[in-house]
Amino acid sequence: MQKKKNLKVLPLLPLRGIVVFPYVIVNLDVGREKSIAALEEAMIKDHKIILSAQKDPAIDEPTENDIYEIGTMAEVRQLLKLPGGSMRVLVEGMHRAKIEKITLLDKYYETEVIEYKDEIKDASINMEALTRAVIHQFEEWVKLSKKIPPETLVSVVMIEDGGHLCDLIASHMNMKMEDKQELLSLLDPVKRLEKLYAILLREMEILGIEKKIGDRVRSQMEKIQKEYYLREQLKAIHQELGDKDGGNTEIDAYRFKMTKGKYPAAVLECLDKEIKRLERLPVSSSEAGVIRTYIEWLLVLPWSRVSRDKLDIEAAEKILEKDHYGLKKVKERILEYLAVRKLSNGVKAPIICLAGPPGVGKTSLASSIAKAMGRKFVRASLGGVRDEAEIRGHRRTYIGALPGRIINGIKNAESKNPVFLLDEIDKIASDYRGDPSSALLEVLDPEQNKAFSDHYIEVPFDLSQVFWIVTANNIANIPRPLRDRMEIIALPSYTEEEKYQIARQYLVDKQLSANGLKKSQLQFMAGTLQKIIADYTRESGVRELERQIGAVCRKTAKKIVEEDKDKIRITVKNLPDFLGRTKYMHTRAEENPQVGVCTGMAWTEVGGDILPTEVTVLAGKGNLILTGQLGDVMKESARTGLSYIRSRSDELGLDPKFYENRDIHIHLPEGAIPKDGPSAGITMVTAMVSALTEKKVRSDIAMTGEVTLRGRVLPIGGLKEKTLAAYREKIYTIILPKENERDIEDIEQDVRDKIKFIPVSTMDDVLKYALVKE
Ligand code: ADP
Repeated sequence: MQKKKNLKVLPLLPLRGIVVFPYVIVNLDVGREKSIAALEEAMIKDHKIILSAQKDPAIDEPTENDIYEIGTMAEVRQLLKLPGGSMRVLVEGMHRAKIEKITLLDKYYETEVIEYKDEIKDASINMEALTRAVIHQFEEWVKLSKKIPPETLVSVVMIEDGGHLCDLIASHMNMKMEDKQELLSLLDPVKRLEKLYAILLREMEILGIEKKIGDRVRSQMEKIQKEYYLREQLKAIHQELGDKDGGNTEIDAYRFKMTKGKYPAAVLECLDKEIKRLERLPVSSSEAGVIRTYIEWLLVLPWSRVSRDKLDIEAAEKILEKDHYGLKKVKERILEYLAVRKLSNGVKAPIICLAGPPGVGKTSLASSIAKAMGRKFVRASLGGVRDEAEIRGHRRTYIGALPGRIINGIKNAESKNPVFLLDEIDKIASDYRGDPSSALLEVLDPEQNKAFSDHYIEVPFDLSQVFWIVTANNIANIPRPLRDRMEIIALPSYTEEEKYQIARQYLVDKQLSANGLKKSQLQFMAGTLQKIIADYTRESGVRELERQIGAVCRKTAKKIVEEDKDKIRITVKNLPDFLGRTKYMHTRAEENPQVGVCTGMAWTEVGGDILPTEVTVLAGKGNLILTGQLGDVMKESARTGLSYIRSRSDELGLDPKFYENRDIHIHLPEGAIPKDGPSAGITMVTAMVSALTEKKVRSDIAMTGEVTLRGRVLPIGGLKEKTLAAYREKIYTIILPKENERDIEDIEQDVRDKIKFIPVSTMDDVLKYALVKE
């Protein structure tokens, strides 16, 4: 136990935030005037002073209540004046002191204290056990905290006295101020050791948790650092290889482009997201490749790029005129359309549909319209498109996904208001992969195309400023809802004369320059172009003609280079040297009248054509055999014709039971080509009558017309195309239904002048003109 001493009077040094234990030497910096005075007083006397902590370190002028009751009596060893009036003191704690009274003197606080010194020896077993336990715990703590050098540990452990040991350990550990004060206040060394032991245990626990947290943080840090290190290495490798795409140069380039172009907010947001995703992926992963393609698509699309329109009708007329021969009506319609568009700026104009056989200039007209308007021109072919994805693209989850043809066209146009030609819109089909025509409807509908969403691009694209032009060979095949939105402009077949003029004025020059020839190097002499048209092509348009002229140009170029010639003349005679044998020398119509053969006329998607029809009568049982890929309507038309013949057998001079022991075989040559429609009715009847009566049919006549059971002749479509086809085949007499007479005026004058039209209203008239009189 402690020995109680008499009261002593000593100056007080109040401490802020620290506790000084007995046997401990510490440096203190002292600034307060009263404290300095107290130190000076101590120095004058026996160097003794009382150190006691303030309960609240923030208080400047503590009173008796602010000072802890138990402090330490210490000896001042050294005093050092610091600049600025403060002092540094070296004090050594001696033993505990209980403050009985504090009085404020002039300059400092004076205390009356009772000294408490630990009893020198307490050798009880309890004390021994506690001491060992504390030492052990302290050793553990030192190991874990690593805050105290091992030498200190050795010197501490050597101390045998429990109380003393406790004070030393407490002074070395940085525990809470309150804990330290409590340890100081415990005068009984056993109690003090117990308390210290408890504190050590808690500290150990805290250290354990700290270590765990530390370990976790460290392992995370290590992982991040490792990745960073590897990435940096990869970047260095890329740089070493001169690989520009590697590392962040690519990302930087994307970000740079983002700031350069004008992109809508939705696109920027999407780009930002994707670029961030890309950053996180290894450069060579396949997913990064997919994202890169996507980012590039978003960057390259003309989200807000438009070209300025020039809607000068006169200039437009000049351009159309300069690029195309003839087509008077078509050009007029186009100019009217442009004028309306100019006047009603913003009003939704219908979409132009250029309809006509191949090679009549639909594509080149569309491109001239673009030129006239000062817009970019792009085209996408829809022929054979069955899959909605071809219009709208594939979703990005699909391997190898890309945008559809519309977005692809827009990309090529590099502006969001091009003239966009959708070729062969009548050739789209639909099947289980979705209906492309409904996707097209969305593309063309001004209500919907403001926000056209391609499956791949995802961000909606505004197509409302695109000038749509579609082409079709046969408007009947365009899905109805699409057709309703279109202004249809029909382009008819060309006559021989028109073809000649187009060739002379346009195609020759075009092909000369396409093959690198000067005008002076190749000359088509009189009659050659006509011969190419007549003998080397058979078409409604001029595509094949252009190809043949191109072939002549290529041969010429070769000859000029190989044979070192200045100039080549093409004549009717040497033409076969350039183009080979004539392809369509003979007309397919018979030259002389024949029994059972009659020339009809057909109207197909590629224009008009003649349709020779053959009939043979065989021994049989009254069957009607039809070959040559006839459609149902045509087959019915043949049966109707046969019934008509049976009903008229008397007038025709036939045995009324002629069919009973015979088969009639009707064949339409070029059997691989499907044929249909009712307009071959009168042709089939004529051929059958001829075969049955063995009267010949005139070979210089072609005919078209539907027949009824009672022998009336009904009107047909496509007279102009059919007439031109007959004309091409050098047939100059045409039998046509009376009701089609008014269509004759649509036919060019030069053709009309040459042809004899015979309008008929009954089958009797047909036979009267067509059968050769004996
Ligand atoms: P389509 O699109 O109708 O199939 P194109 O526009 O491809 O036909 O025409 C084929 C070729 O014929 C093109 O080189 C075109 O310039 C030319 N062509 C067609 N019609 C005319 C014309 N009336 N005047 C001048 N060239 C023409």
